[in-house]
Amino acid sequence: MKETGIRGGRWMFVLFAFMIFFSIYVQKQQEVQETGAQQEGKRQQEAMVSPEAQGMQADAGADTGEKAESMQTDAAEETEREQADVGERKIALTFDDGPHPVYTELLLDGLKERGVKATFFVVGKNIPGHEKVILRMAQEGHLIGNHTYDHADVSRLSSSQVCEEFQKTSDLVEEITGEATPYVRPPFGNWDDELDCLSSMIAVNWTIDPLDWTTANTAQVVERVVTEAAGDDIILLHDYYKSSVEAALQIVDILQARGFSFVTVEELLLE
Ligand SMILES: [Zn+2]
Repeated sequence: MKETGIRGGRWMFVLFAFMIFFSIYVQKQQEVQETGAQQEGKRQQEAMVSPEAQGMQADAGADTGEKAESMQTDAAEETEREQADVGERKIALTFDDGPHPVYTELLLDGLKERGVKATFFVVGKNIPGHEKVILRMAQEGHLIGNHTYDHADVSRLSSSQVCEEFQKTSDLVEEITGEATPYVRPPFGNWDDELDCLSSMIAVNWTIDPLDWTTANTAQVVERVVTEAAGDDIILLHDYYKSSVEAALQIVDILQARGFSFVTVEELLLE
């Protein structure tokens, strides 16, 4: 029994010792795993902020910063420009082919209401019987220009015929207003400044042509002009069409609201 008791005690001791070793082993293994996990986590963190990643983050930061800054600068400059432009942006309305027996006076009424000065390149043969309209243009501060007598394509005429085309209209305007006009707009844009009789004349082009004579769609003409309008533009329209006259007045309302002021071609060119 004693022997059994001693043997049993030895087994108990062996078992106890094994349990201690086993628990120590398990604990060590856990420590190793934890350290490994920590190291792995640290490596991952390092990878996230590796010099390359740090550089990329820095670049991205700088890039975003620059973009934001440049956008802010652009916006500020735009606002400054808009503020500076208010009341300073000048634009000129020009009307060719008139006077029309009805529409030109409707246009003059509308321009007067809005305090707008425009430029009229008149066709001489349309004047007889409508001298009052020419006189009214001059009295209300508009500039009168010359668009030949017969709406002639001067490239198809002899030198003397070209001179006559401009001279006849100039004479008519001077008879009515007391003042000859040096401003001309040659029909179809054809112009020969080599001619002596034209040497003192000033040919006036345009920068915005909504092709108003090709459509009766007022809204389309308005849209074409107001989307293009910047400072110092010369808008080409024709007071010979009702839709063009209506478009002109709508253009004035829209652009005046945007801070444009309407001036004659002379005022625009003299700057
Ligand atoms: Zn014309």
